Amino acid sequence: MGTPTPEIGEKMKIVLLGAPGAGKGTQAVKIAEKYNIPHISTGDIFRKNIKEQTPIGVIAKSYIDKGNLVPDDVTIEIVKNRLAEDDCKKGFILDGFPRNVYQAEALLNITELNVVLDIHVPTENLMARLTGRRVCSGCGESYHVTTLEGRNTCARCGENLYQRDDDNEQTVAERLAVYHKQTEPLIEFYKAKALLKTVNGDQDADAVTAEVLNVLERL
Ligand SMILES: [Zn+2]
Repeated sequence: MGTPTPEIGEKMKIVLLGAPGAGKGTQAVKIAEKYNIPHISTGDIFRKNIKEQTPIGVIAKSYIDKGNLVPDDVTIEIVKNRLAEDDCKKGFILDGFPRNVYQAEALLNITELNVVLDIHVPTENLMARLTGRRVCSGCGESYHVTTLEGRNTCARCGENLYQRDDDNEQTVAERLAVYHKQTEPLIEFYKAKALLKTVNGDQDADAVTAEVLNVLERL
């Protein structure tokens, strides 16, 4: 009683989950545009902190330079700093964080969340998606071999397509194994907190977006 209904943007504190190849990045961009909230990709904020030589960026770089993984607490600090910025007040979409239950526990101490979206694609389809992916060397557009019909140039800009080093079968298998071990437990974690909504990622990107927006409108 008396509590004003929040505007849509105020209840858009979103975590996006999904295996490598599930199309998480594409959906994050669409959601961010639709609701005018920042898309926070951990890769991007790492690069920014390192480039600007922030204290936490310098620490992160010291691990990366030695070829080591950045410890959870450093990653958590970087995300915490980013979420404290003004543009996150009415919402955000987190992409690539949390990656494990330890990070998820820490995130709950930093901010409330409104929803965790899991873009689900069956594992056997992820392998085919990733190993068949070809990327444009000019504009970065992604294609799949099944739709290229033998072409090897970009429909948008005409540059050559290539296969990313980490899209070979062995590396993909390793990336999926890491995901299953570390990140999949998050699905149970968020389900137990009644925050999880699963979206069928095994359809074309526009259909996934429609389903995602439908879920968000009903929050
Ligand atoms: Zn291109």
